[in-house]
Amino acid sequence: MRLFEAIIDANHRAVAGDPNAGLHPADFAHELPVVALTCIDPRLNALFPNVLALPADQFIWLRNAGNIIFDPMSSMTRTLALACAVKGGREIAIIGHTDCLVRKTSVMDLTNRFQALGIDRSRLPENLTEFFGLFASERQNVLHGVEVVRSSPLIGPQIPVHGLLVDVETGKLEWLVNGYQVFQTPATVPAAENLLAGASASLASLPAFQMGEMKFPETKIGEASTSTAPWLPEPRVVESQGAAPPPPKMEPAPKPIPLPPRIRPGPYLRKARK
Ligand SMILES: [Zn+2]
Repeated sequence: MRLFEAIIDANHRAVAGDPNAGLHPADFAHELPVVALTCIDPRLNALFPNVLALPADQFIWLRNAGNIIFDPMSSMTRTLALACAVKGGREIAIIGHTDCLVRKTSVMDLTNRFQALGIDRSRLPENLTEFFGLFASERQNVLHGVEVVRSSPLIGPQIPVHGLLVDVETGKLEWLVNGYQVFQTPATVPAAENLLAGASASLASLPAFQMGEMKFPETKIGEASTSTAPWLPEPRVVESQGAAPPPPKMEPAPKPIPLPPRIRPGPYLRKARK
């Protein structure tokens, strides 16, 4: 069982009331830490990384308003790339949430809110939807984010990119994009020469990474992978250079991870500890 298959399984069992639901991080040392992008909504503070059954030291948490990925070379995509290249992240997850205020905010709402902050409409970009990445569906926003990250020349083919949605009321996860399966589409792997191109050349080559060409077959989304992927890289040691911190130790969490509100309390990791 791959990491996110175990995460979804543990999460769904916990939501269903299983007090022993959890996973043992040491069993997934080759797939940790996880790099996750979520929204800035404070309701998520209590949910992560608990709903993933992961200890905090295996969870690299990035946030922006609406968990939006703007383009394959954006600052957030660069941070995701460095989280993998420098901090040793092994898998990426774009995690949206239900009842997102970015989804619920219209251009008119936003204009009025800026006006209340003393910022006149004339000082803002013309297309606010495009500029702030406003979206109409939390699910579609996650699908788009995964698509853009997957198409980025900065994210290597060894990194699965998952898409999830968390219910802010229950903590239940919905697996929208199974990064293990999507990744097996060869067409999504950028050519090596593009990785080696200079910054300006990479920018110029962006049209070659057509986001629209990424396919998410409905029959595969959310399905559990049943076989071990042949491309899974061998365990590797992230080199520390200079004053960089050492890679995280794969020790079991020192204490049980508390469950989020509305999920029945229980020892999330204790049961799995050997
Ligand atoms: Zn939100």
